[in-house]
Amino acid sequence: MSEQIKAPRGTFDVLPAESPARARLHAAAAGVLERAGYGRIETPAFESTELFARGVGESTDIVTKEMFSFADQGGRELTLRPEGTASICRAYVEHGMHKLPQPVKLWYLGAFFRHERPQAGRFRQFAQLGLEALGTEEPLADAEAIILLDELLRELGVPGVRLRLGSLGSRATRAAYREELLAYLREHRDELPAEARERFERNPLRAFDADDERTRAVIAEAPRLLDRLDGEDSEHFEAVKSLLDQAGVAYELDGTLVRGLDYYTRTVFEFISDELGAQSALGGGGRYDGLVEELGGPPTPAVGWAAGVERILLALGEEPAAPAADVFVAAADGERARALALATELRQAGMRAELDLAGRSLKGQMKHADRLGARHAVILEGDGSAQLRDMASGEQRGLDLARVAEELSR
Ligand code: AMP
Repeated sequence: MSEQIKAPRGTFDVLPAESPARARLHAAAAGVLERAGYGRIETPAFESTELFARGVGESTDIVTKEMFSFADQGGRELTLRPEGTASICRAYVEHGMHKLPQPVKLWYLGAFFRHERPQAGRFRQFAQLGLEALGTEEPLADAEAIILLDELLRELGVPGVRLRLGSLGSRATRAAYREELLAYLREHRDELPAEARERFERNPLRAFDADDERTRAVIAEAPRLLDRLDGEDSEHFEAVKSLLDQAGVAYELDGTLVRGLDYYTRTVFEFISDELGAQSALGGGGRYDGLVEELGGPPTPAVGWAAGVERILLALGEEPAAPAADVFVAAADGERARALALATELRQAGMRAELDLAGRSLKGQMKHADRLGARHAVILEGDGSAQLRDMASGEQRGLDLARVAEELSR
């Protein structure tokens, strides 16, 4: 026997019993987002590396450590997409969507790739669904985006959900604050872990994401961006909060929320679930008013979020379960072709119908029908007659084959 090949670390297979829960999530997302007028967009699974380097930020963990990058046969530098927003901004510019009535409202669902340390709820290939509203700076768009993720999590019944909300201000505010924070971190340089100092020099806001004790102690006393918002930023943030209040969406103000991507401005938020362990983030996002321009487009304020499909499924904690057949068509030898024809007819009538494909005896077929959880079995006898069996009660009666579909849908 040859040596067995396993799936790469940090990846997983979605088995048939696990797919109904996923399909429900996909359908719920499509329902909630399409009812709000967001259209689905699909972008390639890989892009030019340059897109993420510029779009996500050179000093972010994603770009420095987590990208699956490679050169193709023609020497082009490519990267498996680690997130969706940069691609969508690229597509927005590439397809001239800035000429459409604004905002352009898009949603997506697909696979993303990050070279992270695999653990519960953290994979190297995972699915995200997300939304972007491009071409508006109205607080209404921020509030709508948040309300839609809230609604989706509610509709799915995700337990223990909390919303953390903050604002990073405009780029100018953030730049000034960055200097203030940098000065503060330099003052406390000796208290910080040596290996983190260089990183904070490049991007001091990252210190808020750190999970080591020493950085946490220093950062707890640091000045907060929320206290530095200028007039317009502050007005924008107040408007978003007021809209959420009026919509009855509860949130916790969080001045330490910086998120792992460089492009955010003003509103940032994250939905977490207390049901999840260390990886508690269900999804998050915010406003990114400078990104489209950064990627070569016209100035285009925008807001969006991304949510982790596996995280939501984990929080829901549903047991895997393959859906049961409505009917199993069992057949005596010589009747198998008729069984296939009948199963086909029942499927066309909208039923989930199965038959034996493995040459089992009639007795073996009934056992198999039971294992499949079929509600009914139609038994085609060798003499041309047929029986209908209720699998739960064991009740059985003769059946007019011309009227099976009708009988079963009663
Ligand atoms: P981010 O783009 O980092 O804001 O991620 C958005 C959401 O995607 C997170 O809140 C998680 O739910 C999910 N997510 C991010 N990274 C991973 C990963 N490596 N494995 C599974 N889910 C992830």
